[in-house]
Amino acid sequence: MLNRLKTDFQLSIITLLGTVAFLGITPFVVLRIAQGNVVAGIVDVLILACIGGGMLYAWVTGDTRRVGFVMAWVVCFGAVAAGAVGQADFFWLYPCLMVAFFLVSSRVAVLVSLSAIVTAMVIRSDGLQSAEHLWSFFSTTIMTCICAFVFAFRNEQHRKSLELLATVDPLTGVKNRRSMDEGLAIALADAKRTSRSYGLIMIDLDHFKKINDKHGHSVGDEVLLDLVALVQKRIRSTDQLYRYGGEEFVLLLSDVNARGVEMMVNDLQRIIRQQLMCRETRVTASFGVALLRHNESAADWLQRADAALYLAKEAGRDQVVFSDNEPVPLAAALVGSPELAT
Ligand code: GH3
Ligand code: MG
Ligand code: MG
Repeated sequence: MLNRLKTDFQLSIITLLGTVAFLGITPFVVLRIAQGNVVAGIVDVLILACIGGGMLYAWVTGDTRRVGFVMAWVVCFGAVAAGAVGQADFFWLYPCLMVAFFLVSSRVAVLVSLSAIVTAMVIRSDGLQSAEHLWSFFSTTIMTCICAFVFAFRNEQHRKSLELLATVDPLTGVKNRRSMDEGLAIALADAKRTSRSYGLIMIDLDHFKKINDKHGHSVGDEVLLDLVALVQKRIRSTDQLYRYGGEEFVLLLSDVNARGVEMMVNDLQRIIRQQLMCRETRVTASFGVALLRHNESAADWLQRADAALYLAKEAGRDQVVFSDNEPVPLAAALVGSPELAT
């Protein structure tokens, strides 16, 4: 639970809001009912119920985007409603405006907060409030929004760049090993839920060390970039390429059967053989393939692909090896395949 709060920023904001709302609003519910202001008490209870329900929904489903959107409207217009029926004016609107900027994107937050401010001013422009009072309200709420906007915007930018640094390989621009762990976990969960099939192809360049030794590290880097470009051109948008380390990559294929994986890996082998060059020398790669088995762990799945890759290297490199006991044997899948025959 603590881990989810640490890693999911939106969920932590929603939880913070829920906790603060519960602690801050509950005494007012009691006070207002004791003072005989039942309407204000009911408004407070409704706001609490919405925030509490939203928080619970976010924890259960993980859908913090939708909850954040609804909560931003609820807290801002809840504060306006509470101000309209209570005696505390619109003081609650100030923290709620700030919170909105952390619940939704800055653009949506501007829309929500301006709508709430204008609604509050319309409610108060009944002749009882002086123009000066309205102007003070407008300028202070707008100033609150500007500060919250700047802070939330900068925070969002920092978060995005940190996320990029943590998940993307700086040389090739493909996702790194940490992202791969997440990708495999998502694939496993999806396979359990939907029985969709997944395949892994582990790709390792052959004799890459020799390229570095002969031509230098920067030429080796160019070969890695060329390899990534070649692979990315062939895969579908639903497939994901990760840099596993050094000159080793993992390709995660979703919604694919043994024949589909085989066609893909053969295609990659052919295209690398034909087009991957270092100066005038052709560069090849070895491939280890494993289809996800029923109830298999990510570590076991990866290990099978790695073992198959090892066999491909042992067999002389520039080879494709399927992990043992795959559901459809390699040779059998090839028989009668017009696409592969051509
Ligand atoms: P094999 O055919 O058995 O895979 O041999 P190999 O030489 O490809 O494999 P080995 O594991 O012996 O060497 C991998 C080399 O990859 C060693 C390391 O210096 C190099 N390497 C790792 N990361 C990078 C990188 O980011 N850029 C460059 N240019 N080289 C890298
Ligand atoms: Mg290698
Ligand atoms: Mg290697």
